[in-house]
Amino acid sequence: MSERFYVNLPLTTGPFTLDGPEAHHLATVCRLRPGNEVCLFNGDGCEYPARIMAVARREITLEIVGVDQPPRELPFKLEVAAPLPKGDRSQFLVEKLTELGVTTFVPLACERSVFHPREGKREKLERYVIEASKQCGRNLLMQISETITWERYVGIGNVEELRIVAHPYQETTSAELAQRVKGRSAIRIAVGPEGGFTDDEVTLAKSHGWQAANLGPRILRVETAALVLAAHVADWFHVNS
Ligand code: SAH
Repeated sequence: MSERFYVNLPLTTGPFTLDGPEAHHLATVCRLRPGNEVCLFNGDGCEYPARIMAVARREITLEIVGVDQPPRELPFKLEVAAPLPKGDRSQFLVEKLTELGVTTFVPLACERSVFHPREGKREKLERYVIEASKQCGRNLLMQISETITWERYVGIGNVEELRIVAHPYQETTSAELAQRVKGRSAIRIAVGPEGGFTDDEVTLAKSHGWQAANLGPRILRVETAALVLAAHVADWFHVNS
């Protein structure tokens, strides 16, 4: 895959000038030169192969030579809701969810969550999405929602959707839910904070049609639980459809 560069502008075939940090990255970090091929994307679902025509100090002149739409998305909408963990772990979570093809990430506020305003900055999270998309080849950006309380979140969506909440003290294992992904166009999964969901929060979710699932005999950190469940769901879908 050619080196990928993100631009927040509409793209089409023909000449294009790249500036700002991405131009700096292309010229100074990647040391690309006229004649080299790169790939531009802007999150519209396509990617735009381009040839470098000229490299100046602050801007790069490119010729966009095509428009491709490689299939790199999951065949269903996958939404993952979880409280943002602390520090680097929220970066890790957002990057890996992007790589797994998650459609939307919803930062959750639960009864026992501890809010870390620095980690919650949307711009920063969106930057992690872009960096991960460059690396993994996604041309649609994972969306980051506003933080929402668990109380409100459980009521969103409809009973037709498969909605799974991870909770260590449940009898249903995640594998038992595997059969239920068949034919779904949207799946939501939710993970609780380090302190766990309260019993009332789990009861509330069940009353709204959520299925609670056990992910095994060890207690996983928020980001591990979210990634394991997202990966399971993506995999079940392929196996069962
Ligand atoms: N101390 C908490 C554990 C929190 S772990 C408690 O006792 O509940 C953070 C979140 O990860 C949990 O709320 C749950 O959603 C998910 N999780 C971690 N390990 C899990 C497991 N073995 N099964 C199901 N969910 C798990």
